[in-house]
Amino acid sequence: MSIRVHIDGAVCLPEEAKVSIFDRGFLYGDSVYETIGTAYGRLFAARDHLVRLERSAERIGLRAPPRATIERAIADTVAAAANPESRVRVILTRGAGKLDLDPASVDDTQLIVIVFPLGAPTAEMFEKGVSVAIVSITRNSPLAIDPAVKSGNYLNNVLALGEARRRCRAYEAILCAGDGSVAEGSTSNVFLVSGGEVRTPPPAVGILDGITRAKAIELCRANQIPFSERRISPAELRGAEEVFITSATRGVLPVTSIDEKPVGAGVPGPVTRRLMALYDELARRGVD
Ligand code: PMP
Repeated sequence: MSIRVHIDGAVCLPEEAKVSIFDRGFLYGDSVYETIGTAYGRLFAARDHLVRLERSAERIGLRAPPRATIERAIADTVAAAANPESRVRVILTRGAGKLDLDPASVDDTQLIVIVFPLGAPTAEMFEKGVSVAIVSITRNSPLAIDPAVKSGNYLNNVLALGEARRRCRAYEAILCAGDGSVAEGSTSNVFLVSGGEVRTPPPAVGILDGITRAKAIELCRANQIPFSERRISPAELRGAEEVFITSATRGVLPVTSIDEKPVGAGVPGPVTRRLMALYDELARRGVD
């Protein structure tokens, strides 16, 4: 199990990897990133992640390197780390310059790839489900840094997770949008099941359009599982029969308690279990 870093065009050990204190990623969170997981030894949905990375970069006017350069950096770093399963963090920062907020003052994109052991949830977490807390910190307004942009500026989510952990030692924080409806987790999307129907908030609420979220929706549609995208109130989430979260490193993960109260029967429900199995099948088949 090892960590390897691709920086300045070469792969190195983590202790050898250094960024400038003038790098705008460090100074301002002026960066975008992706987390890609491997499944059954191969990158899962890497193309979708790289498309989103390019879209995030474009939205903040950050010049992305050619796709092939990023793909090569990822492949070299994953190979050097040689983990059974990896978590791949791809970062683009606007680079180092003068202490000048103006993004036009620098055009020196830095590509950094960090490969870690995957660190997926444990078997027990998948079997018993995890806890979440609905926190008071709201998700960023789409009129500020749009949550659809996966920027390195995660302080809001950092503080949200801190609140959830401090208040009730919850595994994940659920943030609401400015309108009070449920938005998403600090690093995950959230779904509920009610009357056999799977529901999740629409992108218009102000969320990251998760790659795993999209796969879960596709699986519902392909398998005749009723699905709808619509605004969800915190009370609806608390009263749901089943709740689950999705993300690249977790896949589909059941939630069995919200603010220390059980969801439904307090165990992962049948629809969640079905989607977990379908997602595992998809991962086994592989998605480029
Ligand atoms: N929302 C947020 C805020 C996230 O950080 C993540 C993790 N990248 C997700 C949702 C899940 O997205 P994905 O399925 O693409 O990992």
